[in-house]
Amino acid sequence: MNRRDFYRTTGALGLGLMAGKTAYAGQADDLPEPGFYTENARKLPAREFDVVVAGGGTAGVICAIASARVGARTVLVENKGYVGGVAVEGGTALHSFFNLWKAFPGVKKRQLVRGIPAEMVDRLTARGGATGYAEMVKHFEYDSVCTAIDTEMYKLNAHEMLDEAGVYVCVNTLLAGAIRQGDRVKGVILESRSGREVIMAKAFVDCTGYGDLAAHAGAEYSEPNDYPVVNSMGLGNVDIEKYHHYLAEQNAVGQLAYGVRSGMPGRIIRLGSEGAGGYPPAFVQGARQIGLSAISTTTQDNYLMFIKMNLKLRECPTDRDAVAKAELELRKRMQKGVELFRQHIPGFERAFIARTAPSLVIRRGRLIACDYDLTHEDVLNGRHFEDDVFVYGFHDMAPRFQIKDGGSYGIPYRALCVKKIENLYAAGMMITTDHRAHMSTRNTVSCMGQGQAAGTAAALCALNHFSSRALPYKILRQALEKGGVYFE
Ligand SMILES: Cc1cc2nc3c(=O)[nH]c(=O)nc-3n(C[C@H](O)[C@H](O)[C@H](O)COP(=O)(O)OP(=O)(O)OC[C@H]3O[C@@H](n4cnc5c(N)ncnc54)[C@H](O)[C@@H]3O)c2cc1C
Repeated sequence: MNRRDFYRTTGALGLGLMAGKTAYAGQADDLPEPGFYTENARKLPAREFDVVVAGGGTAGVICAIASARVGARTVLVENKGYVGGVAVEGGTALHSFFNLWKAFPGVKKRQLVRGIPAEMVDRLTARGGATGYAEMVKHFEYDSVCTAIDTEMYKLNAHEMLDEAGVYVCVNTLLAGAIRQGDRVKGVILESRSGREVIMAKAFVDCTGYGDLAAHAGAEYSEPNDYPVVNSMGLGNVDIEKYHHYLAEQNAVGQLAYGVRSGMPGRIIRLGSEGAGGYPPAFVQGARQIGLSAISTTTQDNYLMFIKMNLKLRECPTDRDAVAKAELELRKRMQKGVELFRQHIPGFERAFIARTAPSLVIRRGRLIACDYDLTHEDVLNGRHFEDDVFVYGFHDMAPRFQIKDGGSYGIPYRALCVKKIENLYAAGMMITTDHRAHMSTRNTVSCMGQGQAAGTAAALCALNHFSSRALPYKILRQALEKGGVYFE
């Protein structure tokens, strides 16, 4: 058997990676370069769609629904077995569908983000899987509302909406490569237990959070590595009223909102202390050592959803081996975290870890270069553009930074067009290089708005044979308005 035949056989048996010493025994002149393996070219099955959405997370779900509703044959590629992304793995509440009206007396309450993101949350709320838009009663200069979600119902609700829209959903499928020709992406390479395959399409949206598709396609990107990596745990067996009572006794209640919890209105759904205030020194010291942040939300009795452990890596979060070490360290920290709560905080005596994320998350990994890069001045001054695709009004560093007069700013279409590639969009936490501006654009509801805009644009381009830069704004705007997007 010569080397080529051997590879064919082992490849067909799925044993390619085991080809090593055995394969080359006795072929001294044919040895490969040590430490390397040359993969054989393979003929892959290929299918055609109009639009590929890479990543079925916060932005990707909305993006794929938007694209399919415009009429494009749309495929969504998601690495995990469920959709939802960091919205169901990292954050505490969905920030924010509204302007910051409560912090600006006299300013009108306005729902800024509508369309498919709002439809998703309204539908979830109606089936008991979200708190709707409960008003904050303390710290409303940070956010005026609290939208907490039941993470498991969110996954189901989102997947059902994709299904109903007619999206071809590939879960448990890794986007492993891109096929580029000149300034266009032609296709993507997928890996799943069904094998390696190609999907060709006319337009593409990268919603992978980390910009995997754009990076595979050779787009320009940076990796600022300016955040810790995080895993957040959900704690069961927590007496929330007892915890609140404890903080209230020391006058240390920080963020607070009441809403529907386990079907009953008027219950605590968001709770945090005022800084480290109110906690015993031993708890504070222990929490510092493991990067613990206790602000949390809930939709169910006896359960707190997101207690975060933070860990700053020296390496970028795209370094697999550094991430492997961090995954272990974060799990150790979560154990220490629950023990700290049990030992020191009333209400947590019998708490246990009921949920963790399947892998660590970060607030930004790769940042993909797009035609326009929003600045912090744009955000704070409430700037609107001639090519706005939706408006937004939340800043994660509020009250230090707030959008002018409790209003909104616009996200321009150009901020989603990947530089130098004619049919690729980016949506989600991978846009906006300015750290402080990103403290606004990266939040869940902004990612969702970006998703609807990018999905709508991709579908219009694919159906009408436009490149992303040739798509007339008027047509996009009409389609977005038809999809319920608000622009003031
Ligand atoms: C710890 C933490 C706390 C946060 N807290 C809040 C908060 O309280 N409120 C708020 O509004 N925002 C919060 N944020 C920000 C917000 O949650 C994220 O910025 C946002 O959810 C990111 O959305 P996304 O669509 O860009 O990425 P994601 O939601 O991560 O979606 C990306 C999806 O792509 C998939 N994927 C990635 N690579 C591939 C691939 N190669 N092939 C196939 N699939 C792939 C992933 O599995 C994932 O499902 C927080 C973020 C973090 C990290």
